[in-house]
Amino acid sequence: MASLGERLTAASETFLVDRLETIVRDARPFHPEGHYLYPADERGNHLQGYFLIEPVAANPDFVEWIAEDVVSWAEEKGIEFDVLFAPAHPAVKILAQEIADAAGRRVAYWEYLPSGRFGERLVEGRVAAGSKALVFNGVSHTGRCVGQRLPEFVERLGATSVAAAVFVKGSAPKVAETEQRLGDRFYSAVRAEVPVFAPEGCPLCARMGPPVPWTALLGREPA
Ligand SMILES: [Zn+2]
Repeated sequence: MASLGERLTAASETFLVDRLETIVRDARPFHPEGHYLYPADERGNHLQGYFLIEPVAANPDFVEWIAEDVVSWAEEKGIEFDVLFAPAHPAVKILAQEIADAAGRRVAYWEYLPSGRFGERLVEGRVAAGSKALVFNGVSHTGRCVGQRLPEFVERLGATSVAAAVFVKGSAPKVAETEQRLGDRFYSAVRAEVPVFAPEGCPLCARMGPPVPWTALLGREPA
């Protein structure tokens, strides 16, 4: 798969590489250097790099390109779902709504806290018992959101999680595990090489001092 620059690789066979290159170049969403805290609280992970979805979701062309590729993947792989299930992260909602509209499916959102952590309840839309859900997130650095948490929430609502999609997946072990478990039923457009460390024993802390909360990247002008 084509390299999109430092530690970024194209991961979808159908997403035009020049479109991915344009997104990475114009939105400048990837911060490969640095030491970030996600979720932004004392229990958060320490990440060596961060892919920010906000500047990508701010461009309607990029949103349309992403929705187009996710929908064509779902059609090509024969993934049947009733509802797109995503965290109520404002930038993720923009992508999720576009995908749901393009696929002609409903969308439902799980509670999302400003730290980046998930809450405990459905906040918008409906997930009917017995329905099939496609779980979606913008970026999964750790793999836990689409690999574990969102499917658990879907099941708590009495529905079934049938597939997972993210615009960007990281490189943590849970990402690899989700790839192996779901195979073609796990979509991503881009892979970002971002090492993830537990707060205790993070090697970056010794070298770089405390991590920067990921939220500090929000609202920063492109370099
Ligand atoms: Zn650290």
